[in-house]
Amino acid sequence: MKEVDIIVIGAGPVGLFTVFEAGLLGLNCVLIDNLDKPGGQCAELYPEKPIYDIPGVPFQTAQEHVDALLEQIKPFDYDLLLNQRVNKLQAIKSKDEITTWEINTSENTNFRSKNIFIAAGAGSFEARRPPNIDDPDKYINNGVSYAVRSKEVFKDKNLIIFGGGDSALDWSVELADTVKTLSLVHRRDAFRGAPHTEKLMRKLVKDKKIKLLTPYVIDSIVGDVNVSGVNLKNFDTGDIQEFEADELLFLFGLNKKLGPILEWDIDVNNKKIDVDTKNYSTNQDGIFAVGDINNYEGKLDLILCGFHETTIAVQEAYRRLNPGQRVPFGYTTSNTKLQAKLGVKT
Ligand SMILES: Cc1cc2nc3c(=O)[nH]c(=O)nc-3n(C[C@H](O)[C@H](O)[C@H](O)COP(=O)(O)OP(=O)(O)OC[C@H]3O[C@@H](n4cnc5c(N)ncnc54)[C@H](O)[C@@H]3O)c2cc1C
Repeated sequence: MKEVDIIVIGAGPVGLFTVFEAGLLGLNCVLIDNLDKPGGQCAELYPEKPIYDIPGVPFQTAQEHVDALLEQIKPFDYDLLLNQRVNKLQAIKSKDEITTWEINTSENTNFRSKNIFIAAGAGSFEARRPPNIDDPDKYINNGVSYAVRSKEVFKDKNLIIFGGGDSALDWSVELADTVKTLSLVHRRDAFRGAPHTEKLMRKLVKDKKIKLLTPYVIDSIVGDVNVSGVNLKNFDTGDIQEFEADELLFLFGLNKKLGPILEWDIDVNNKKIDVDTKNYSTNQDGIFAVGDINNYEGKLDLILCGFHETTIAVQEAYRRLNPGQRVPFGYTTSNTKLQAKLGVKT
């Protein structure tokens, strides 16, 4: 069981900046996110949109902002675990009676810490399941996927991709040369994704590398343990037809779910965690909530507010780890240790 100074749940901008503030005080962190990449909403929802209200940065796309945060935390000691959701959180007492917490993730990873920072935004991003299909998750690893973790999974397979947005178009184009056959299913012959990618997809259809099945929706999955096919319903006529498939990739977008957070005995109101603005602590000893997930009078869901909140909360985390000690305070302009790590000559 690895013990760290701070466990950060959520690797959005506020979770990432927590590593910086913790690092300045010599604290290490583990960051855990359900998504397959760091950056939270910025990376997942609007990577190419410009942000204008990061202090001192007149203009940055959301992805550039995430990349800059990752660059900024490079000198510090942290682990980043992706594709896993923090499911369980339970208190254990340490010898010195300062509450220690233990977390468990969907990949069965465990960590312990005296400080839990919930930087979970609006909740964990979870793939939307196909509508009207009873328990599609029973085929996970046996022919049903909601994301591409490795292209190898689809190599030489009969793949059917479902969806009408950017992900469905991107992966259709990207996987066309990897698979044995590829069909793209959508309920209408119009797509919400980037026009350029749609054009590439339609060219591959013309070249017979992709079979475009519209207007179809899924009716049922065929197969006992492994997927062997799928029944598709023609959206116009209602006719149902079976298609052979080894792999089904559902790209219907993402939902945001508070999920397990609701089971952690933390005060939640209107899907937000109540905090004390003195140090952004929750009603539970050693658990802090920072960024969009928290709520207090005057709260604004802005990145810069989250940065302030986590800066203050990290001070309290230091106190919990070093009882009775003064929290070291210094400007980064005169932090020679940081400058040495960054290779700056002083
Ligand atoms: C279109 C759009 C434009 C915006 N423009 C601006 C702007 O111009 N300026 C500005 O300041 N703000 C803007 N925002 C808001 C800004 O993106 C948010 O304030 C910011 O992302 C909040 O950061 P966060 O780190 O608190 O949470 P998030 O970015 O939401 O990240 C939270 C992360 O936690 C993960 N997570 C949650 N629960 C779990 C769990 N149990 N286990 C594992 N992982 C979990 C989620 O998967 C997610 O990745 C915009 C938002 C949108 C949607």
